[in-house]
Amino acid sequence: MTSSERRKMILARLQTDGNLQITDLAGDFQVSKMTIHRDFVILEEKGMLKRIHGGAVPTANSRKISEDIASFPESRQGECLICTRPPTQHLLYTLTGKNGEQRQACCPHCGISAHILYGENIMMAFTADYLTGKLHAAQNSYFLLGSVAAPCCHPSILTFEDEQMVHRFQTGFGGTVGGLNDAIKYLREAMILDPEKDGCPHCATALKKGPTL
Ligand SMILES: [Zn+2]
Ligand SMILES: [Zn+2]
Repeated sequence: MTSSERRKMILARLQTDGNLQITDLAGDFQVSKMTIHRDFVILEEKGMLKRIHGGAVPTANSRKISEDIASFPESRQGECLICTRPPTQHLLYTLTGKNGEQRQACCPHCGISAHILYGENIMMAFTADYLTGKLHAAQNSYFLLGSVAAPCCHPSILTFEDEQMVHRFQTGFGGTVGGLNDAIKYLREAMILDPEKDGCPHCATALKKGPTL
């Protein structure tokens, strides 16, 4: 995870938890307390939080700013909003924002990354069945997490409309089966705990070029 991604996740946590402790964040992100301290200083300079002893609290600006951050980045037609790879039919993941904006992700891995980064802005998400290419609601989809079948980004996340098919596929290719929230939790943990090993090289390059925070 880049420092910019970590700061975005800190702001997201500030919205949900209200009050953050440096010690907790250092543990969760597996970085030093000094690193979190520096993140807080940078975010405070931008008016996004207020530092208190050993932690931070939201400012009046935090919610407004975090809503701005939550809106989708500009991306070209036919390019993944996260990593700019072109989506293919059997891996397509589509997202609709609160103001009706539509974006495409190259695969469910990047779709889930978008849920992590822009969750507050997402109204609807559809994902293709890996075997048939048919779009269905991500909420009702079966997600195969971390299987050895990795046609696009790492760690692999594939989606299936049919419960029987996901288990049949799992028998051959491993991984664990879960729903949308399991997939978000899985990728969030992979990004935090093992950024080097599990990080997608393609996504990492694309994210580095993105706007810094
Ligand atoms: Zn992508
Ligand atoms: Zn991908």
